Amino acid sequence: MTSILKVDHLTKRFGLKKAVCDVSFEVFSGQAWGLLGPNGSGKTTTLSILLGLIKATTGKFQWFGSHQTGAIHRTKIGSLLESPCFYPWLNAKQCLRMTASIRGLENVEKEINRVLSIVGLQSEWQFRVGTFSQGMRQRLAIAGALLGEPKVLILDEPTNGVDAMGIIEIRNLIKGLISKGHTILISSHILDEVEKICSHVLVLNKGRILDQGAIKDVLHTDNVMEISSQDSDRLEKSLATIHLIEKYKRDGEIFTLWLKEGVVSTDINKEFSDKGIVLSHLELKKSSLENHFLKLLG
Ligand code: ADP
Ligand code: MG
Repeated sequence: MTSILKVDHLTKRFGLKKAVCDVSFEVFSGQAWGLLGPNGSGKTTTLSILLGLIKATTGKFQWFGSHQTGAIHRTKIGSLLESPCFYPWLNAKQCLRMTASIRGLENVEKEINRVLSIVGLQSEWQFRVGTFSQGMRQRLAIAGALLGEPKVLILDEPTNGVDAMGIIEIRNLIKGLISKGHTILISSHILDEVEKICSHVLVLNKGRILDQGAIKDVLHTDNVMEISSQDSDRLEKSLATIHLIEKYKRDGEIFTLWLKEGVVSTDINKEFSDKGIVLSHLELKKSSLENHFLKLLG
């Protein structure tokens, strides 16, 4: 496997504020990494450093095994950072010509047609971008990132502000790019999005990494169960005393339990029946990233 990006103890301070704190990870060719975290967790700052737009306070990173930055970012890496801005009076092709010229790409007319058709805007190119929906604007920004067929794509919250249909289109578009072998870094505050698109995940909170690795490994770290009983308050009292769980969360009448390693549903059932509590609902959940994420966030 070829190393595409190696990030070593990256830290970024804005004044006294640490926006990114000791972040290390490595991305290999063909992987799709999701930087997952709530707003303000340092996703855009991390990606801006990796794109050479701002400098890290400490730490370093290597693209393609080299510390060199600058031109490499514009040719081998396509990016969409935060909400893309376009001049509203230009049409889609004119916008892409500007992006191409900023990225130093020449003879791009054919290339512009290619990327417009990938993102499904080939028949809309002559309309002013000011008349585009948010979803169309995001797709145009992805088209800009695709110009010149970069091996690596960095997409910062690509479905931000996009409606449900647009989100599905953009997700499918990104999945298609991954299946064609692009290496992708995508940031999102939406767990479901990362779970559906990415092969790997980096969970960030307040600039720090809470967990990272292959999605399937992160998924398998939890053993989560949902229970309820007629008498929720009594159930909650007894939950405080049982040793089979690491923690629980109450949502109305439903309790989500994070079971200790090796604990199975019959153990839980027996524990409560010994205490004289009848469970009206007991369901082992597929351990999802969401459960893991909520647990990590504490
Ligand atoms: P995310 O993209 O995960 O929402 P950001 O990387 O944008 O998070 O921000 C991380 C933290 O750094 C936030 O607390 C934000 O307010 C702060 N921050 C980001 N950019 C700046 C800046 N230019 N000056 C000061 N603080 C900043
Ligand atoms: Mg952001």
